[in-house]
Amino acid sequence: MQAASKKELGLPYGKEASMAKVFASEKANTACYSALQMLGGNGYSAEYPVERWSRDARITSIYEGTSEIQRIIIARELLMEIV
Ligand SMILES: Cc1cc2nc3c(=O)[nH]c(=O)nc-3n(C[C@H](O)[C@H](O)[C@H](O)COP(=O)(O)OP(=O)(O)OC[C@H]3O[C@@H](n4cnc5c(N)ncnc54)[C@H](O)[C@@H]3O)c2cc1C
Repeated sequence: MQAASKKELGLPYGKEASMAKVFASEKANTACYSALQMLGGNGYSAEYPVERWSRDARITSIYEGTSEIQRIIIARELLMEIV
């Protein structure tokens, strides 16, 4: 919400956008990992949708800026605020 609000106001929003991206990506991965684990072999099987959702969630921590790169952006912005 802060990223969207800052964008609407024409303010820099890179840090908040990176925070939202890495948080959402990693939460989606955690949720899919748990769902697949709970369903066991059926979760892993392509016969059921959790397998596809897990792969779709996995890519979100890679494309549009990997989680590592998002963290570098966040750290850089935070360090600039301190200096
Ligand atoms: C399905 C799919 C769709 C895609 N769609 C598009 C698209 O539409 N447009 C587009 O432009 N690109 C697209 N990409 C490319 C995507 O953006 C890149 O895969 C992504 O930027 C990561 O780059 P890379 O694969 O070269 O990994 P690399 O840059 O080789 O990174 C490999 C690993 O090293 C880590 N790493 C790299 N540098 C650092 C660092 N300095 N510090 C710490 N860790 C680091 C990364 O976080 C990653 O975990 C797509 C990729 C996929 C798989």
